[in-house]
Amino acid sequence: MGFVMFDATAEVAAVRSAYGPEEERALAVYGDVVAAFDAAGLPAYVETRGGLAICAYAPDGTMMVVACQDFLPLNRAMVTGWHLAHVSEDGPSPKWRCIVHDTVPDDVCCDEPGDLRLGPLVNAAKAHLAACDHTREAAAAAGGAS
Ligand SMILES: [Zn+2]
Repeated sequence: MGFVMFDATAEVAAVRSAYGPEEERALAVYGDVVAAFDAAGLPAYVETRGGLAICAYAPDGTMMVVACQDFLPLNRAMVTGWHLAHVSEDGPSPKWRCIVHDTVPDDVCCDEPGDLRLGPLVNAAKAHLAACDHTREAAAAAGGAS
């Protein structure tokens, strides 16, 4: 099987075209998060299967997943921080997972909310992708003779 160039934009366009009412509702709340990742070249979409999250594709087909202490609430005021993970694929049990950025306070009940700015969130994603061993391995495998 040859290496097929992953087309994140096409992939995300397909997901977006299948948005239902639940996804549209979530997009109304988190559209700015999706737009911030889009603008960084990481096409993003709303994921509602098994709980709300924002997913963004890296150029190699791996994914960034934005949540907070758990899944994202539909009430944005309840977001206490961003929890950003880099995973091998969209699904319940990815082969690996890197924790990239976590501003959720230790005590979600009583601590002040963490940093909710999108700039540092997206920058952490970009910096991680440039340095992640998994991304490097994938690139090496794709460029190799096997
Ligand atoms: Zn990683």
